[in-house]
Amino acid sequence: MKVYLNGKLVPKEKALISCFDHGVLYGDGAFEGIRVYNRLIFRLDEHIERLFETAHTLMLQIPLTKKEMKQAIIYTLKANKLKDAYIRLVVTRGEGDLGLDPRKCKGRQTVFIITDKIELYPEAIYKKGMEIITVPTVRNLPEALNPQLKSLNYLNNILAKIEAINSGFQEAIMLDTLGYVAECTGDNIFIVKRNELYTPPQCMGTLRGITRDAVLGIARRLSLSAHEHVITRHEVYISDECFLTGTAAEIVPVVKVDGRQIGTGKPGEITKLISKEFKELTKRDGVKY
Ligand SMILES: *Cc1c(COP(=O)(O)O)cnc(C)c1O
Repeated sequence: MKVYLNGKLVPKEKALISCFDHGVLYGDGAFEGIRVYNRLIFRLDEHIERLFETAHTLMLQIPLTKKEMKQAIIYTLKANKLKDAYIRLVVTRGEGDLGLDPRKCKGRQTVFIITDKIELYPEAIYKKGMEIITVPTVRNLPEALNPQLKSLNYLNNILAKIEAINSGFQEAIMLDTLGYVAECTGDNIFIVKRNELYTPPQCMGTLRGITRDAVLGIARRLSLSAHEHVITRHEVYISDECFLTGTAAEIVPVVKVDGRQIGTGKPGEITKLISKEFKELTKRDGVKY
């Protein structure tokens, strides 16, 4: 496997960065996860756009233009002869000293691109559905560390993931500081009630996921009403269907939340329809290489 590191393709074993890299010392950097389906990079422009938006707020200069970044991704995919892949795109502040001051990194940003496979959950989860719980760790306050930022500082999500795992679950609902459902540790959440879709708005603790956007688009095309609206845990418990969305996870049916069965306890019809339409979308919506 070859990894793109600062403009060069290097073997995986040689894809190493400094201990003084602020990405390592402080989680100071931005990332994206992108999927490739049969040589089509799904919503590449949207992912690049979001990476540059995260970097803009972090005042992190990306040493490549958007076009160059796309070319670097394609270059890496081709070098690894991949048709289907998961891409991890990372930009860190780079090597600095032991202080926080990002100016000490002197524009030595680190850029790397890993193209690999990812299988987040076993196939059975997609067929039978997942059981999840709500965990105590709430999603970051937007005025502290905005969940819109796909930054390298993911401890908020990792703490929630640990709580889920400690309780024997693979994924968890995180609430926002008002107690509304925000999202899961790396996925957005949807519920279905009386054939209408609901997903939390992006204003509090919810990342505007690209898969979430794709699902909202699919719903519109299918003439299903879809609302970006605050959701309480009660509304999740009494929903007819529930599912999670994310680039790595794709569409995951949820059949039990905090011990409450959702709907029939099996993946719902609308969830299955959305999953099918999403698969179709990935066959045509993307940048070909
Ligand atoms: C990346 C991510 C998502 C999903 O976003 P996609 O763009 O669909 O991959 C949702 N929540 C969090 C916290 C994430 O990091």
